[in-house]
Amino acid sequence: MEEQQSLFAEDRERERRSRIYGTPEFKKRYQQYIRSKEWKALRLQVIQRCGGLCERCREKPKRLEIHHLTYDRFGDELLTDLQALCFGRCHGEADKERERSVANRREERGENARIEAARDTYFTKIYGGDWERHWLSDPERMDRQFDDWLERKEMADDGRSDYYGR
Ligand SMILES: [Zn+2]
Repeated sequence: MEEQQSLFAEDRERERRSRIYGTPEFKKRYQQYIRSKEWKALRLQVIQRCGGLCERCREKPKRLEIHHLTYDRFGDELLTDLQALCFGRCHGEADKERERSVANRREERGENARIEAARDTYFTKIYGGDWERHWLSDPERMDRQFDDWLERKEMADDGRSDYYGR
């Protein structure tokens, strides 16, 4: 239980950090962090690890930069969150890949929010506004009930769009 809670907290923290990514607040914190001695120490470890070679193309560039594979632990990174990359090509590509994965995650969150809203509507119709009380008494059964309904509904929606598509 305790482990589950801490996993949940970790998830929420990751979510929070990925939400501020790209905002002015993030940029400000980034500028401050990049000058900190914690960052400089971490950076040095990555530079030592790579032995002067780009960690993607394995070439020896004139200039190496430190890339964040993820900002999930921004300010408290693991060494595996960071890569030394050659300036220009590899760093540019790696930044684009990260942008894509952030965008995918945002899209997924939108999808989750849509399902949450459908779930609320569905249970409210059956159990009323305090459906959460019912849910707590038998969450597994109710979740199954909702999943079955959602599956049937999505199949019906697919059928309809097929029909109109012809
Ligand atoms: Zn490279």
